[in-house]
Amino acid sequence: MIKPQKGEIRKPTKTISGITPVAVMLPPRKCEHGRCIYCPNLNVPQSYTPKSPVVMRAKEVDYDPYKQVIGRIEAYKAMNHPTEKIELIIMGGTFLEYPEEFQHNFIKSLYDALNGKISKTLKVAQELNENSTNRCVALCVETRPDVCIKYIDRMREWGVTRVELGVQIIDDEIYDQIKRGHKVIDVINATKELKNAGFKIGYHIMPGLPGSNLQKDIKLFKKLFSNSNFKPDQLKLYPCQVMPSSVLEELYWEGKYKPYSREEIEKVLIEMLKLTPRYCRIMRVMREIPPEYIIAGTIRIDLRREIEKELRKKNSKLKEIRYREIGFAQQEKKEINLDLKLKITKYKASKGKEYFLEIINKDDILFGLLRLRLHHKNAIIREVHVYGQSLNLGEKIKDVAQHQGLGKWLIEEAEKITKENKISKLSIISGIGVREYYRKLGYKLEDTYMVKELN
Ligand code: SF4
Repeated sequence: MIKPQKGEIRKPTKTISGITPVAVMLPPRKCEHGRCIYCPNLNVPQSYTPKSPVVMRAKEVDYDPYKQVIGRIEAYKAMNHPTEKIELIIMGGTFLEYPEEFQHNFIKSLYDALNGKISKTLKVAQELNENSTNRCVALCVETRPDVCIKYIDRMREWGVTRVELGVQIIDDEIYDQIKRGHKVIDVINATKELKNAGFKIGYHIMPGLPGSNLQKDIKLFKKLFSNSNFKPDQLKLYPCQVMPSSVLEELYWEGKYKPYSREEIEKVLIEMLKLTPRYCRIMRVMREIPPEYIIAGTIRIDLRREIEKELRKKNSKLKEIRYREIGFAQQEKKEINLDLKLKITKYKASKGKEYFLEIINKDDILFGLLRLRLHHKNAIIREVHVYGQSLNLGEKIKDVAQHQGLGKWLIEEAEKITKENKISKLSIISGIGVREYYRKLGYKLEDTYMVKELN
């Protein structure tokens, strides 16, 4: 890699949303329910390929979590990205099904790596991380909907803030056909329990599965947001592709399955982008699968960029979060109006009330957001996020939203809403590395949450 110039950030999109993501891959292990028919079996972490960049990096260090984190931080530093606010993402199969001791040691190693020091216990490592140079501001685990509810307390002890559920499609007949090994009711229950515990929820959605078609995919996608049992905070849209050694490959060669054409994928994705409400973020579109591992299905991993470019040209007003984030407007060198206002969207979800608070300007460019959930006389903030190029703590740049007091503004508004609803205590799910920030706003650590009594 050619060394970046002083002040130049290489691949700026990586940290454009305000935090620095570090993906860590688990060593290979078979899923306990069997294998979904589209999932490959390539002697690497389940559902990945030997040439996926994150797998290659992990293999080089024998899947050692400590070394994976150190390697990524060094790479980010070399590209001039800030590394003070890290989001850790654990990938590669169902982490919650690994042996408990393995899980514990894996998580501790992640914090140890961020701290640059091996602590005696996980708790000590977390305490150290509260003030460390590389703080863990978010921790994400990918899991199946049927295996996460009983591990909620454990995930909180680890400092998990976000859970990504493999949902794919909300249809029991298709679940049977693709051998998912769970039902729609598992998605509904997991979504509710995880939201009540304060987690941010992402769904992985897979258009083009056997048994589905364009109309069905769109119809069920609409249901994700019209039925209050679902309403995810984030989505990853991964159209079904035929990969080697999967059962789907056999069906494909037998002529029993055909993936969507490029035109069909484009059509379904554009429709999904348009249907996504303002409280949901489309995190990713298309999986990063090396073309040599795609037997059939589109190989265009940059499809989103093309689609969005077209939509922006046509001045289409998408509402989903990522499309409206300030970081992208800055990247396009748009003139940004700094007259900011608060917008509150209220909706019912999973037997609770959600308040989605946004700080936007008149062009609907998004500077910051907060998710407040009220359920059974409990109030919990599930997310506070101020957007813009990730800045090192305390650093200020003109026109950049982070560190300009927007987080405080959002939290004060959430406190007001909580009091108006006659609830006297507000909790915040907090990444370990953000606890200090909340302490300054009068919150105290209680169990694994930051909590404030409101008078
Ligand atoms: S749950 Fe995920 S990793 Fe496990 S078999 Fe299904 S697709 Fe593969």
